[in-house]
This record gives sequence, C-alpha cells and structure tokens, in this order.
Amino acid sequence: MSGKTGFIGLGIMGSRMAANLVKKGFEVCVYNRTREKTEPFKQQGCGVSYTPKQLAGWCDTLIVMVSDPAAVEAVMEGENGGFAGLSKGKTLINMSTVSPEFTRQLADKCAKSGINFLDCPVSGSKPLAEAGTLVILAGGSAQDIKRNEKLLLSMGGKIIHAGPAPAGSYLKLCVNLVMGHMTSAIAEGTSFAEACGVNPALVFDTLEANPALQCRYFNMKRQPLLEKKFTPAFPLKHMLKDARFIMSVAEQKDIDIPVTSAVLEILEKSAEKGHGDEDISAMYEGLEIHKK
Ligand code: NAP
Repeated sequence: MSGKTGFIGLGIMGSRMAANLVKKGFEVCVYNRTREKTEPFKQQGCGVSYTPKQLAGWCDTLIVMVSDPAAVEAVMEGENGGFAGLSKGKTLINMSTVSPEFTRQLADKCAKSGINFLDCPVSGSKPLAEAGTLVILAGGSAQDIKRNEKLLLSMGGKIIHAGPAPAGSYLKLCVNLVMGHMTSAIAEGTSFAEACGVNPALVFDTLEANPALQCRYFNMKRQPLLEKKFTPAFPLKHMLKDARFIMSVAEQKDIDIPVTSAVLEILEKSAEKGHGDEDISAMYEGLEIHKK
C-alpha cells in the first residue's frame, strides 16, 4: 500500500528511480529545484509540484533523493519545505546518502509528528538505477518496510533490512568504504602500470582472467580509466561527502581506519583539482605517484 507517491530530486539517480515508479504504474508527482528536469515527467502525464510542501500535501508517501544533508534540509525545512505538508500517518522515505547522525534527527522529527520514516539509501549506480535493480539498504521497522515493499522493489532488485534507522545509513557507509578502496586500488593500479611502462589495459585483462580477482566494478571503471574520460555515474563529490561521513563516524566511535584516511586525501586532491563533478574514477587525477 503506497497510494500517491511524491518524488523529490531528479538528479542522476532520482530521475531514473522516479521513472521506474511511473513505469510500474504508481501515481507519481515530482519536484526538483531545477525545474527543467521535471519536463520529461510532465510529458508523461505526471504532476509537477511548485514546492516540496505542495507535493508532500498531495502524496501519501514522499521519497527524497537529493545530494546531502544540506539538500535534504533545503527541500524539507522552511515554510515551503516537505515537512510543512507532511502529516500524521504519511510516510517519508529518505534515499539520499546522509550521515547516520542526520538520519537519526530525521527519524526523531518524524516520530514526534506520527510520520512513518524509512532510512533507505541505495547501493548501485546509474545503470542499476535505470534497470530498477538497486540494492536498497533499509533502516526502519520491519512493518514499515513490508508496507512499502512493492514501491521499493519498483526501484530496486533487493531490499536489505539493516535494522532500525539509522542502520540503513550506517550500512551504506560500510559499503561505500569498500567501494572507495576499490576505486583507489584500480586508479592507483592504472597509474602505477603507466609509470612502469606497462599497458594498464593488461592489468584489467589480468584481473578479468583470474576468477579470484575478476570484478564487474573494475570492468565498469576500465573505459573511464583507460580513456581518462570520467563521465559521471557516481560523482566524485558524493564519494568525498561519504568519506567525510565515514571519518566522522570513526572519530565518534574512536576507530582507526588508515586506508580510508588515505582514500579521503586522494578524493580531496581530485576535488581540489576540479574533478568533483566527474565520476569517482577521476580519483586517478588526485594521485600523485611521482615523488617530487
Ligand atoms: P546528483 O545527480 O548530483 O543530483 C542531486 C539532486 O539533489 C538534484 O536533484 C539536485 O537538484 C538536488 N539538490 C542538490 N542540492 C540541493 C539543494 N540545496 N536544494 C534542493 N535540491 C538540491 O546526485 P545523484 O548521483 O542522483 O545522487 C543522489 C544521492 O544518491 C546522493 O546522496 C548520492 O550520494 C547517492 N547515491 C548516488 C549514486 C550514484 O551512483 N550516482 C549511487 C548511490 C547513492 P538540481 O537538479 O536542482 O541540482
């Protein structure tokens, strides 16, 4: 049971996720800060709201898929924000990757107003969002997840119930910690091969030929790294944000994660050099493997 669904945030991921909801027959109305991105939805007969408040007032379930905590606040708070239109019994599903601390605040705020809240970041990039096969990392009550299962499985191939919110956000950071390492490994492997005079394509070929090392993720990053064309699937700036969330959790919990510290430094360097809006594989540009 999901009834009318409002969708906020039509970026790389949100536009594809909302399109899948429409395809699966849900009654969808959308809002996006940059209004032009709502045009394809309007052409398909979806409603377009002028404000998040208007959208939240119309729908039974409001999905938010924006960049970061500041963006969630921008669309949810204030006189025209989503919270101004949500009321008791409605459901808010945040699918944006935010910090667990921020998720806890959202969950508390919803609980005080009788709004059902799900903490549902996703694992999987542009192609999975397009195919509707994202892995949904769900934080919330089993009952709320069950009630929204059909809706969630219209965007994803699998729901992993992590526990009560903010467990979804914690799980998402665990997964992105691994992905950050994998990206830095393949970017540094490419860079190291080039410095050694080895064709980096051979590194990818070798990994692919070895059943113990072959990995679809490395294959996805093969072309961008070999051609140095970093068209964004997962923008580097979002991984930088997530690495900062991870380090902040590590600090709160007094955990030492030295490899992730190094990954964060590389991400920061890449962003400083102007590669934040490019794909995460542009971490290659932040590596400075030659000692001065
Ligand atoms: P994106 O393409 O950069 O889109 C960001 C969305 O947030 C846009 O709709 C943007 O609106 C909106 N937004 C940003 N700041 C805003 C503000 N201040 N006020 C209102 N709206 C604002 O990002 P994405 O790749 O779709 O990622 C969305 C979320 O999913 C992020 O949290 C990301 O970490 C996570 N994620 C991404 C991937 C991936 O592979 N891309 C995979 C898993 C999870 P405008 O259109 O107006 O700019």
